[in-house]
Amino acid sequence: MDFRETKDRTRETLNQLVESDPMMSVEELREATGLKVHTVRQMLKGLGWHAVKGGSDGHFPWHKDEGRPCPYEAQQKAKGKTKMGVVDLDAPVEFKRAA
Ligand SMILES: [Zn+2]
Repeated sequence: MDFRETKDRTRETLNQLVESDPMMSVEELREATGLKVHTVRQMLKGLGWHAVKGGSDGHFPWHKDEGRPCPYEAQQKAKGKTKMGVVDLDAPVEFKRAA
């Protein structure tokens, strides 16, 4: 099996997962894909997705800013939560979904 092809397919799966449920936590995505948390973050980052910490669910939905200012980050800044609104993709953060 071609490793690169497998990786592409996994990336596509991840992409579809966050598209269909942008509130999925990294931990949930890890379980769904069988990837490592680090790999999940790296792949999503590579695809242009990012999530901002905050809100009642612990994080805002996965989204793509595509060069535009991040609306969630702005929202967090407006609330005075300026502790770098963007999730540090390399930090061992686990989003908690408020069920
Ligand atoms: Zn954003």
